[in-house]
Amino acid sequence: MSERVTNWAGNVVFGAQRFHRPTSVAQLQDLVGAAERVRVLGSGHSFNRMADTGGDLVSLAALPRTVEISDDRRTVRVDGGIRYGDLVPHLDAAGLALHNLASLPHISVAGAVTTATHGSGERNGNLATAVAGIELIRGDGELVTLRRGDPGFAGAVVGLGALGVVTALTLDVVPAFEIRQYVYDDLTRDALEESLPEILGAGYSVSLFSNWASTTINHAWVKRSEPMPGGPFFGARPADGPRHPIPGLPADNSTQQAGVPGPWHARLPHFRMEFTPSSGAELQSEYMVPRERALEAIDAVASVRSVIAPVLQVNEFRTVAADGLWLSMNYRRDSLGLHFTWIADTEAVLPAVAALEEALAPLDPRPHWGKVFTMDPATVRGRYEKFTDFAALVREHDPAGVFRNDWVEGILG
Ligand SMILES: Cc1cc2nc3c(=O)[nH]c(=O)nc-3n(C[C@H](O)[C@H](O)[C@H](O)COP(=O)(O)OP(=O)(O)OC[C@H]3O[C@@H](n4cnc5c(N)ncnc54)[C@H](O)[C@@H]3O)c2cc1C
Repeated sequence: MSERVTNWAGNVVFGAQRFHRPTSVAQLQDLVGAAERVRVLGSGHSFNRMADTGGDLVSLAALPRTVEISDDRRTVRVDGGIRYGDLVPHLDAAGLALHNLASLPHISVAGAVTTATHGSGERNGNLATAVAGIELIRGDGELVTLRRGDPGFAGAVVGLGALGVVTALTLDVVPAFEIRQYVYDDLTRDALEESLPEILGAGYSVSLFSNWASTTINHAWVKRSEPMPGGPFFGARPADGPRHPIPGLPADNSTQQAGVPGPWHARLPHFRMEFTPSSGAELQSEYMVPRERALEAIDAVASVRSVIAPVLQVNEFRTVAADGLWLSMNYRRDSLGLHFTWIADTEAVLPAVAALEEALAPLDPRPHWGKVFTMDPATVRGRYEKFTDFAALVREHDPAGVFRNDWVEGILG
């Protein structure tokens, strides 16, 4: 391939022979039908080789943009290449919303759904839980539609790109809503010990950020509809200005704070669409653990603070509600997500990831599919009750292994 294609982070250079940008679903079907090995590249925001292939890499960014709101205004049908940032203005203009968003709007909907990408909120399922229907091209080029309740649907949504090319998704929508975002500085370990469930439940979406330079949580971000009472938040001080999630970075790319009400899509993500999200030079890892063990999990991270802090930009804790999607990191488990934004140096970061995974092991962590992890695939498989059913579903949709790559082979075992 003459064009050098990398993921967003730049830590993965794709090994594809050819790169395609089809402009219609029919072209895409022909491409899949003729190919030996195909993977789709969404917006490239995953941090491992899951999107890689030695065959044909396909971007759906040039497909016609589709945003079809159903007559009953309960769902929206979108194409397989659309990004959240492209979708939300249409929904907002129609007085509609998605129930949640990730930290950034730059990612493709299909890529986010297939990895069970999430935001925060005790009662908010991950973004894949909004999927009511999925249209995909299977290994033989046939286009099939699965709707919620159909056999295999619960296995196909978080499909790791292994079942086929997702050409369209139907998502549940809700009436548009306003959110206010408040930031507090310096939340102590004592406050967590006394009130962690109340802290995590203080808003529609709550995130805690720490760079582990000390044992104090640097920032608590609370997103909710109702105004917060003035004064401290479980002892943490209201921030005296806008903050970036990574302590010390300028807040220009962050969404508006200080309790100013605004539309859901301008407050639920941490980062604005028109800026580079996060630090821009980074790797990421994340693990989901049972929420009832949240304090134990935070303490496990603190126990390896001296190992991780030198390569850590920030650690974020979020909550996600349980769901029934077979390969969701939140499958049947109300979860605490432990996210890590590392420096952009794989060699330096991997030993810290391994130490962290060892510290978290007693909590049965499920690694985020789209991020860096070193856990042995057999251990990962063992964390999913429905893994065998998922593997059977992959074989049914893709008997010839057109969508296999080394990463998928490793996970399937
Ligand atoms: C700065 C930053 C912030 C992030 N914040 C969050 C966050 O808040 N919460 C969170 O959970 N994650 C977060 N992530 C991770 C990110 O959401 C996931 O990695 C997600 O997969 C990105 O979607 P993508 O389209 O960029 O995926 P890609 O990296 O392009 O692809 C991921 C997988 O999806 C497959 N795929 C993509 N499109 C299709 C399709 N149409 N059909 C079939 N397969 C497809 C690819 O083959 C690949 O296997 C963040 C990442 C970055 C870089």
